[in-house]
Amino acid sequence: MSVDDKKVRERLAMYMGQPLDDYSCPICSSWTWIVQDSLVASPGYDPSSNAATGDNYHGVLVSCSHCGNTMRFDATRLGVV
Ligand SMILES: [Zn+2]
Repeated sequence: MSVDDKKVRERLAMYMGQPLDDYSCPICSSWTWIVQDSLVASPGYDPSSNAATGDNYHGVLVSCSHCGNTMRFDATRLGVV
């Protein structure tokens, strides 16, 4: 199952107050973004015990189609997990 592109774009537009493709890349000024098909997972880490917490934080990657600059959003906040 891939990430729901439409849902991600709707949620980001709600937070940004504009459609994703009305936002220009801060690196190359392109206007076209790709919502990646897969989620990424980052393992939690507790610095006080120097150990993994066992938690995983899931992210949605949104990449500039021109230069590859990538933004990571919390998948739970975007409602895709
Ligand atoms: Zn770019």
